[in-house]
Parts: sequence; C-alpha cells; structure tokens
Amino acid sequence: MEAFAGRKIDELGRVVLPVEFRKQYGWSEKDTVNMYRVGNSILMELAEHPQDPICVFCGKSESCAQFNAYDICAGCLDGVVGHSGKVVQ
Ligand SMILES: [Zn+2]
Repeated sequence: MEAFAGRKIDELGRVVLPVEFRKQYGWSEKDTVNMYRVGNSILMELAEHPQDPICVFCGKSESCAQFNAYDICAGCLDGVVGHSGKVVQ
C-alpha cells in the first residue's frame, strides 16, 4: 500500500490529493469523484458519469430527485417522508 501520511484538513474540510496519486490515476482538476465510507476508511473513485446525481445520504445514483439543491434517492426520500408524513421545506 502506498501512503502519504500527515495531510491536514483545512477549515473548509478540504484535503489535497497527492500529485503522485492524481498522476497515477489520471485524475485532474474539475474531475468528479465519488466517496464511500468503508469501515473507518474512505474510498474514493473517479465518477464514471459525473453528471449523474448522487444521493447525499447513501451515495446511490439510482432514482435521485433534487430537493433544495440536494440530490436524494427514492429510498432515502421515502425514509424522510415516512418519518414525518410530509416533506418540510
Ligand atoms: Zn439515498
């Protein structure tokens, strides 16, 4: 495993990806990445279809609808609506 330790997260939550990683994977600025929580780690991959919306709650891209500029999948939306009986704006 290749590792770059000691990267700091700035006040806006950003962390710089090492240039070695970006070159190795062919990532460049303006590319879109997907992030997944895997145990206590975060897995990142280049988004295959960056125009596809991704649910802010679960990361799925199927059946997403936009709500107040956030993409929410049908399953999570059902959970939100089912919780209170209605969507509150
Ligand atoms: Zn979802």
